[in-house]
Amino acid sequence: MAIIVERKRLSFWERTYLPQILSGLYITLKNFFAPKVTLEYPDQQPVIPQGYRGAPVLVCDSDGRHKCVSCQLCEFVCPSKAIKVTPSAIPEDSQYAFIEKGPADFQIDMSRCIYCGLCQEACPEQAIFMGSEFSINAYTRAGLVRHKDDLYKIGGVVPDKIMKWQKIKEREAK
Ligand code: SF4
Ligand code: SF4
Repeated sequence: MAIIVERKRLSFWERTYLPQILSGLYITLKNFFAPKVTLEYPDQQPVIPQGYRGAPVLVCDSDGRHKCVSCQLCEFVCPSKAIKVTPSAIPEDSQYAFIEKGPADFQIDMSRCIYCGLCQEACPEQAIFMGSEFSINAYTRAGLVRHKDDLYKIGGVVPDKIMKWQKIKEREAK
């Protein structure tokens, strides 16, 4: 059954539309004098809040050693297949030969990355972190693929809590 809703008659002031116009002007004036929230990007850059999850990067420990052991877990969990790790063996005569592997190359295709952070969650070495970068651009698709050296350069240093550089016995003695 149809319900008929009676329309309320407008008062004299409502029919002039002045209250609505004045309330709209009041909001405009209030915002005109309010502190500015817009930035002249890119000349002005926003403050990045702590814990912001930007583009993924690789990090070194405080001695400048690369943390990634090319286990490929991040590549496996990445839902958009943005990561490609090329593992290689650490030379047998190296003092770190017991670590076994390190990446010959490590690529992250930023045109595929969805900033989900799963790579960071999965990494057993805390070698990959979500950085603070939020604006990544290039003229070509290939320009959006970041390689190992760039990723380490952008990532910088994060002190090592994993201590993979010590052999298991030395770690246990600590
Ligand atoms: S943030 Fe997500 S999509 Fe981007 S590389 Fe890591 S796992 Fe892949
Ligand atoms: S970044 Fe972490 S998860 Fe990815 S290959 Fe390196 S050690 Fe493994």
